[in-house]
Amino acid sequence: MTIQTNLNDGNQCPLCMKENWKTKGNIRHFQPEEVGGVNINPDGVIFQLRACEECGFTWKAPPLDQELLLRGYSQSPADHWSAVEDGRERQFDYMEQLLCSRILGNAILDVGCFNGELLRHFGTRWKHYGVEPSVMAAEVSRTKGIEILGPTIDSLDPEKHSFDGIIAVDVVEHLPAPREFFERAASLLKPGGVLLCVTGDTDARTWRIYGSHYWYCSYIGHISFLNRRSVEWVGNKCGLKVVHYERRPHLRSGVARHLKDWIKNARYAVASHLPLFPSAWSDQVPHWISAHDHMFAMLQKK
Ligand SMILES: [Zn+2]
Repeated sequence: MTIQTNLNDGNQCPLCMKENWKTKGNIRHFQPEEVGGVNINPDGVIFQLRACEECGFTWKAPPLDQELLLRGYSQSPADHWSAVEDGRERQFDYMEQLLCSRILGNAILDVGCFNGELLRHFGTRWKHYGVEPSVMAAEVSRTKGIEILGPTIDSLDPEKHSFDGIIAVDVVEHLPAPREFFERAASLLKPGGVLLCVTGDTDARTWRIYGSHYWYCSYIGHISFLNRRSVEWVGNKCGLKVVHYERRPHLRSGVARHLKDWIKNARYAVASHLPLFPSAWSDQVPHWISAHDHMFAMLQKK
């Protein structure tokens, strides 16, 4: 993850910098509005979802207080660091398969590698590199054979480092200046190298139905949202070509989870419009983990 501070006031698109946008409505954040126990919205600001007419990018406005966010991320609970991920549920096997289909070399960088679980699930055919801002999580990564190169991708010098593959899973939605991230990633890739970007997709059918009340933008830390048009736009600007694009769920889910998510979200949609239902059904936006609302986009350096 990168924390950037050169932000506009939310009126310019953070990707193309144009001011030609439409509002998608007010956002309903999960309560409390905290990251790592820190209240990110002490003034009770109402946030809006805005979509750029020029490049297709969508963002949360006004911008979040980056100092509060940094404090929150640095205070994330200690038990997260030792968590063991279910690689099949997280689709790590499929991510590796996608990279294998395009990459010739074996030097791979995981951006925001946290405790190194993703690379642990990748086989030994790879040379594992990571960047991670949490000192404790980076230490855990090192015990799994990952070479930690710095806290963020901004800290890497393209003169010294280059990779065959860069993975950014659940990263872009946290970035206030996403274009800088794509530019940096492109500069760190070898010719023909590939960036695998996994993040929410505003073109997903479920997101289009729920708009600014969709679960994915209800996390206060989720502020930047791509779709196919915007990822192709930014790729073009950075010398990256989209060579694979598909929509998948955040987690591999069984039939029971699909059914549960549909029922909860349908109930929420109805209860939000009719006052007769219990307020518990409409007060909190339900998650929709099984929805095919994440892009798996691969961008190759030209
Ligand atoms: Zn734009």
